[in-house]
Amino acid sequence: MADFDVGLVWFRRDLRAADNAALYHALTRCRRVLCAFVFDREILAPLARQDRRVPFIHASCVELNRTLHDAGGALIVRHGAPLHEIPALARACGVNAVFANRDYEPSAKARDEAVAKRLASDDIAFFTFKDQAVFDHDDVLTGANKPYTVFTPYKRKWLATLTPDALKPYASEDHLQALAKPPSDVKHAMPSLAQLGFAEANGPAFPAGTSGAYELFDDFRERMTDYGRTRDFPAQKGPSYLSVHLRHGTVSARALARSAHDAQRHGDKGAETWLGELIWREFYFSVLHHFPHVGVPGDHRAFKPEYDRIEWETGDAAEADFAAWCAGQTGYPLVDAAMRQINTSGYMHNRLRMVVASFLTKDLGIDWRRGEAYFEALLNDFELSNNNGGWQWAASSGCDAQPYFRIFNPVTQSQKFDSAGKFIRHYVPEIAGLSDRDIHAPWRAKPDALKAAKIALGADYPQPVVDHEAARKRTLARYDVVRGPGKRPDEPRSSDDD
Ligand code: FAD
Repeated sequence: MADFDVGLVWFRRDLRAADNAALYHALTRCRRVLCAFVFDREILAPLARQDRRVPFIHASCVELNRTLHDAGGALIVRHGAPLHEIPALARACGVNAVFANRDYEPSAKARDEAVAKRLASDDIAFFTFKDQAVFDHDDVLTGANKPYTVFTPYKRKWLATLTPDALKPYASEDHLQALAKPPSDVKHAMPSLAQLGFAEANGPAFPAGTSGAYELFDDFRERMTDYGRTRDFPAQKGPSYLSVHLRHGTVSARALARSAHDAQRHGDKGAETWLGELIWREFYFSVLHHFPHVGVPGDHRAFKPEYDRIEWETGDAAEADFAAWCAGQTGYPLVDAAMRQINTSGYMHNRLRMVVASFLTKDLGIDWRRGEAYFEALLNDFELSNNNGGWQWAASSGCDAQPYFRIFNPVTQSQKFDSAGKFIRHYVPEIAGLSDRDIHAPWRAKPDALKAAKIALGADYPQPVVDHEAARKRTLARYDVVRGPGKRPDEPRSSDDD
């Protein structure tokens, strides 16, 4: 006996039919289930017409619609404000309950509260489920029932909390017979990209939908064992490239964690390291959920409030530095290659995200929030929790961040992680002719070597916009304001590293 006659599943960042918690609960509790997705007009409006994420979401919706259609249902797609569209659709379809998966972003939580209230006024129930993460909210707390603020103990507790049940799939795909088509007077044609206001020709350059996610995962599964060894080298195919799929839920986070956990239990060290990264993702969800001040829309605050006392560089010189950083024209080849990677593909390797974030905040002295916003505009996998966590880690203002005196040296990073300059040569071809030694710091190359490589520094490729040594000293002075009266006299003052 079903709990409800008609249920509506509101898909958001869970664009898949398999192992989907909200879909499973709707299919097993309702006699008939309708499905909907809303392209949020307010989110889409400020995006560039060429934004790569919209074609990805659109293609993923097309695939999801096909799957639902083949099973007797459909994806009803709207372009508008969810606060209006979902209650209106629920009313038009005689829905008794709406089912969705939980989101941890402050603006999404506020949206859901408002939608729930409006539905309640029509006597329509609204249920949300944990789906994006294996553990959320208060699942992983300290012994004193507090949220963790340090990753390693969080990870230990996460692993200790793990039971086979936590990783069990929700077999939504086995219950699709409850899917139904919307009433004939309810429009449900999929809008084209052009109708949404985005460039048709600019389809996703990376595989979309659940099929796309498994194309990547099947490839990564073979390489997972090498992950710990290869993941830090941007010229190697080390990571999974699954972040955009995790972001939009075209793959189940439970399924990925289950695979990694199974392999780890059989002694696979690469899988253990990769599972650790999936746990970082949940750690940052937890930070955003429990400490929402870090991600208040339009007013992101430092996790550690004293870091908001830092005075960042402003003025014309800082603007010129920021523009050089954005354009990949800083004169530091690894930084420039990384920025050109994000500018041309919407992806940046994790090691390089750390390098360019450190460079912006600690070499150029520019507020981490500006880099965070730049990444938000460009990253295909943009995820508020991870992006904010990553930027605040680099700026040292975050939860379990690197200490402020740890300042990446962009040249030694380059020598260590792109020693043969393969990644640099790909993205900064104008200096490709330099030797493997000179390519990391062209300004140190002998005039003959520059001439032989046909490079006039300052014309073909910029002189460095900043001297790292001098910048490091300025940064240590800038960060002095965070050293409270309780500072230890033996506190290390500087580490220029790794
Ligand atoms: P893999 O190495 O295959 O890792 C698998 C998954 O684990 C990733 O897809 C991601 O979900 C998670 N993960 C990996 N590294 C981290 C990490 N350091 N923190 C949290 N989760 C992690 N990740 C995003 O998903 N969205 C962002 O907007 C984002 N912004 C970042 C900004 C900065 C400044 C930094 C330093 C890191 C950021 N990251 C972000 C984390 C990380 O760089 C990406 O998740 C990773 O590079 C994505 O590539 P992948 O899927 O091949 O990762």
